[in-house]
Amino acid sequence: MATEKNISVGSQVWLEDNELAWIDGEALDINGQEVTARTSTGKVVTVKLSNVHPKDPDAQPGGVDDMTKLAYLHEPGVLYNLASRYELNDIYTYTGNILIAVNPFAKLPHLYDVHMMEQYRGATFGELSPHVFAIADTAYRAMINEGKSQSILVSGESGAGKTETTKLLMQYIAFMGGRAMTDGRTVEQQVLESNPLLEAFGNAKTVRNDNSSRFGKFVELQFDRSGRISGAAVRTYLLERSRVVQISDPERNYHCFYQLCASAEDAEKYKLGDPRSFHYLNQSNCYELNHTNSSREYAKTRRAMDIVGISLEEQEAIFRVVASILHLGNIEFAQGKEADSSVLKDEKSKFHLQTTSELLMCDKQSLFEALTTRIIVTRDENITKMLDPVASTTNRDTLAKTIYSRLFDWLVEKVNSSIGQDPDSRTLIGVLDIYGFESFKTNSFEQFCINLTNEKLQQHFNQHVFKMEQEEYTKEEINWSYIEFVDNQDVLDMIEKKPLGIIALLDEACMFPKATHETFAGKLFQTFKNHKRFIKPKLSRTDFTISHYAGEVTYQADLFLEKNKDYVVAEHQALLGSSKCPFVANLFPPSPEEPSKSSYKFSSIGTRFKQQLQALMETLNSTEPHYIRCVKPNPYNKPGLFENFNVLQQLRCGGVLEAVRISCAGYPTRRTFDEFIDRFGLLAPELHDGSYDEKAATEHILKKANLSNYQIGKTKVFLRAGQMAELDTKRAEML
Ligand code: ADP
Ligand code: MG
Repeated sequence: MATEKNISVGSQVWLEDNELAWIDGEALDINGQEVTARTSTGKVVTVKLSNVHPKDPDAQPGGVDDMTKLAYLHEPGVLYNLASRYELNDIYTYTGNILIAVNPFAKLPHLYDVHMMEQYRGATFGELSPHVFAIADTAYRAMINEGKSQSILVSGESGAGKTETTKLLMQYIAFMGGRAMTDGRTVEQQVLESNPLLEAFGNAKTVRNDNSSRFGKFVELQFDRSGRISGAAVRTYLLERSRVVQISDPERNYHCFYQLCASAEDAEKYKLGDPRSFHYLNQSNCYELNHTNSSREYAKTRRAMDIVGISLEEQEAIFRVVASILHLGNIEFAQGKEADSSVLKDEKSKFHLQTTSELLMCDKQSLFEALTTRIIVTRDENITKMLDPVASTTNRDTLAKTIYSRLFDWLVEKVNSSIGQDPDSRTLIGVLDIYGFESFKTNSFEQFCINLTNEKLQQHFNQHVFKMEQEEYTKEEINWSYIEFVDNQDVLDMIEKKPLGIIALLDEACMFPKATHETFAGKLFQTFKNHKRFIKPKLSRTDFTISHYAGEVTYQADLFLEKNKDYVVAEHQALLGSSKCPFVANLFPPSPEEPSKSSYKFSSIGTRFKQQLQALMETLNSTEPHYIRCVKPNPYNKPGLFENFNVLQQLRCGGVLEAVRISCAGYPTRRTFDEFIDRFGLLAPELHDGSYDEKAATEHILKKANLSNYQIGKTKVFLRAGQMAELDTKRAEML
């Protein structure tokens, strides 16, 4: 007897497995809700029926290039299909019009050459093998043909291949929409060259990726009426600032520091040299990257600056500022004569203070004071408060982070102003390369913001997938009204809503002098005690857990307040705003606001980020989206190794399984009448008399097999989940 899942004794099945996630086998016995099966490795196991899925008896060894062609759309089917393709170096697979890209961790010769680009130019989608160029081509052609802006959203965890994919997309779009050189630099050349530039300043080696982007990026390519690239804009999101002053082995600081240290002449000019002698770099033992030569990279960065249009004078100032940050980090403090005051620790610190002030072209004594004192503004007077060595050190790090993030923002702005925007452009293609969902052992404010981004993108994605499904059903004129759709709006509200969302509560805590991470966490527990997306862990008073679409993440509230505050210390502003170097002074323009009561001016990073995301979503909503989900097949960055559990987790986070779920809620299996009759004609031998047309024959087979709830469209039959297996079982009985 067949079960509700259409598994019967003798059928091929997928079984849940502790080691492999899913293993295939043959059902030996079915007893109520339990199935006993022999796995392909020869073990006999008994598992719950809910952990068993039917396996497609007709599955092709090389897999299918589109998951929607799978006879049985379920988790093991999706996983096995990707794995068997990956084995043959077929790293790309579609799920409908979503592209899944599994990182090969090896150069695949010819996969991206000009010949390949020529092949994909104008080819019908789905005709050639799945490819990142096919997505770019579809987007480009849709823009030309329909005059509608497009966006390509690339997501995945760190090291999955987002940035590489983005570069390939831009290469292809530049190939399609490039134009002849005008003044020696084309727009697309400048856009492509902005990559190595922003990577030098915004990428670093992490445990997961030697060239990890520590910021999110949305590149907007603008087109003129004839489909030529006529302008571009780069928007960046949330650069990781803490990395400038704090790194852990075996990670590195931003690439530019090592590049500068390796540049023979300039390093000497700025009194640099061995990176091992700088505190901001020697907290980790990693100085070199495999396969890269820092001095050559330095030359590349300088060349990128030339192409992007950064003058030599500006380049000199930029690297002077980079050097000043390294020297600043070497200024150490010791206890001063008075209680709670600081002096320079030693001769070395004196040298670095001197050098920092020379490089930033500011007064040495003022720099020292800005580091070791704080002016408290009260109603009646200004009081100068001395800082102890610990507070001075924190203050020093704050200054380093502020300078660096201002420098990064300057670079982005410069890239934008020199590439130039096209005010007449009416269509654009946006390419989003943004951090994927993160869940670590400890998760702080950064993960919170990153996961908020992913919740927002997930909502956008679900709505899109849902809409596409509906469109397909409408096109085939079938009824789809029953499909239910679970939204993640409740998580978004919990985070974003005013006045009682998490960000609003965090801002409130940041403005209230007596608030601590404990009072903030307490407020969260109280506000969300009955929220089904919020969990208070038993063993901590300051951790809180959010049930995200991709799983639960526990956040440590400890540093949330501090990390949410974006203040520029007034003393730092005053010091650098008056630098004799116009470049430095320009990084610290006088703020237009009234001087506030406190010398800290609080502005909320969380709220600003939320607004940036809002603007991004508005842009995305005005475009036709295309999705690329990058997958990292193993955590070791090794070619040829495909780890099931790892991949499944990413498919879940990237919404691929969600898309499968949405699709399963409807009619996941579609077959043209022709294909259907090929497979199941056997069930109705009487059809061979030829008196039926294809559509009628299909209906006849389905009726004869006693199926209900399927739909007959104009060209295809739509089956509910499990119905294909039911038909296969019947067919097997006939054989
Ligand atoms: P992400 O931006 O997702 O963190 P990257 O795009 O930087 O990841 O990719 C990490 C590394 O993986 C790259 O440095 C490269 O070595 C490798 N890689 C990614 N995509 C490809 C690809 N399509 N072909 C070959 N190698 C790739
Ligand atoms: Mg990246």
